[in-house]
Amino acid sequence: MRNTTDILSLTDEQLSESLISLGFQKYRAKQVSDWLWKHAVRSFDLMTNLSKENRQLLSEKFFIPAITLDTHQISMDGTVKFRFKLHDGKMIESVLIPVDEKDRYTVCVSSQAGCSLTCSFCATGKMGLLRQLTASEIFDQYVLVNQYCLERYEKKLSNIVFMGMGEPLLNYKNVLHSISRLTSDKGPNLSSRRITISTAGISKMIKKLADDNKGINLALSLHAANDEKRVEMMPINESNNLSSLMDALTYYSKNSSGKISYEYIAFEHFNDTAADAKNLIRLCSRFHVTVNIIEYNPVKGVEYEKSSEDRINSFAKQVRDHGIMITVRKSRGKDIDAACGQLANKS
Ligand code: SF4
Repeated sequence: MRNTTDILSLTDEQLSESLISLGFQKYRAKQVSDWLWKHAVRSFDLMTNLSKENRQLLSEKFFIPAITLDTHQISMDGTVKFRFKLHDGKMIESVLIPVDEKDRYTVCVSSQAGCSLTCSFCATGKMGLLRQLTASEIFDQYVLVNQYCLERYEKKLSNIVFMGMGEPLLNYKNVLHSISRLTSDKGPNLSSRRITISTAGISKMIKKLADDNKGINLALSLHAANDEKRVEMMPINESNNLSSLMDALTYYSKNSSGKISYEYIAFEHFNDTAADAKNLIRLCSRFHVTVNIIEYNPVKGVEYEKSSEDRINSFAKQVRDHGIMITVRKSRGKDIDAACGQLANKS
């Protein structure tokens, strides 16, 4: 019969209590925790400072829900998409975006298998929500992509963005737990300034994040600067309209040191007009925010067209002329379906 306790789901205190109740000496809990989180070992057999009997006992009482690399694809532009298999056979994707000239190696991780939101331009949303990822399944995406990054570029990952499959704020507890493991000096010890959560916009949870963690950057997938258009693309806007989101972000800007940005996919003649730019400028007035305009990547079955370069540039200029920091990002990894909104376990 399968052992039922996922050892990676335990806090350090719970792990310590469990091991003591099994007869382990107290200091063993730290050794086991170090193996799991510092060295990211995913087999009890590799915990070589434990006796054979102790390792045997651990494997009888616990299991380690490791994720394994199923496949990876390399884009013409260097972006790498990874498909990982979860212990129950479900698949998720992560993306490595290397920017050599800036020495920046960013991993985009998934927070859910699939997604319950139904943003109309997104391939993941069409899968529905299969399940929440555990904290360790999020953590392990970082670990495995970091190993690849070290092997290929001799560099560690520099940034992590929660922008893959799923809505991170709807898997709040596990996402925050993964972040506390990633930023711990008993783990990779990442700075929270290097971490960005991207959200479709859940006002209540944005405020909670401001209260619970003071330093993570927050990216709002805005994509339209009035409610009518935003609802059409993102049904979540019905219950979390722009006014409530602006209140939540104002709260975030006052209570967290994390930076705020808007992600804005440009769709031809839909959200790239002068009137749209004017609305966007208004949404930049209450707190400091940078805007990233993203080129749209066509998704099968979606009727939006991508904006032309000329239209994007004049839209960006109108916003920039108001003193707002705005960048126009070329999409990366389009040829392997690794770009924004394209993650849906295709290969
Ligand atoms: S854009 Fe994000 S929140 Fe929206 S459906 Fe896709 S994965 Fe979910």
